[in-house]
Amino acid sequence: MVETPSVSRQNSGEADEISQLKIGVLALQGDFIEHIHMFRKLGIEAVEVRKPSQLAGLDGLVIPGGESTTIVKLINMFGFAAELHAFVDRGGALWGTCAGMIVIARELTDPYPEPLGLMDICVSRNWFGRQVDSFEDQFEFNGIEGGPFLAVFIRAPVVESVGDGVDVIARLADGKPVAVRSGNRLATAFHPELTDDSRVHEYFVAMVKEGATVR
Ligand code: GLN
Repeated sequence: MVETPSVSRQNSGEADEISQLKIGVLALQGDFIEHIHMFRKLGIEAVEVRKPSQLAGLDGLVIPGGESTTIVKLINMFGFAAELHAFVDRGGALWGTCAGMIVIARELTDPYPEPLGLMDICVSRNWFGRQVDSFEDQFEFNGIEGGPFLAVFIRAPVVESVGDGVDVIARLADGKPVAVRSGNRLATAFHPELTDDSRVHEYFVAMVKEGATVR
């Protein structure tokens, strides 16, 4: 059972803690700038990450949507892989959205790219078809209050199976998992950064805060 972060109950003390957090968004390819804007709107320091050495100063990291084969290629080219594992192992919070979810998976149903194995999930790419099959859907997100979340899916993946200790926190009506959490790791198949609803970003900030206080 994942502990529910209390994202909607911030007092002024918590606001102080939040202002000390630093979240990075991997800015090699994809829609990193939309995540940066969302975190800044929440009063969080958010930076574009282009070098592995930047991970040392971060409490949380987002791997954004984009094109997973390209992102994996660039991660390897710039020497990020080992540093990403070290970041997660020392308790840094990690969130992969869409292509980012593919990148952090343990296994894919596709032969490529070679995922990084940062989260114990098996993922199918392009599950819903091509770009023209992009869509919006609404569903409850376990741990987020305030009613269903309207989610944007763009050539999105789904989670096929999860390992021990990974919780499914959102599903489509047909039961397909589209958001999963395991401790300091979060993966979503959709794009919360492309809506005005910041609740998933607030959920991640609560995860980052939990990790930052125990480290
Ligand atoms: N289909 C893309 C891929 O496989 C992911 C799409 C997205 O991030 N919106 O990488």
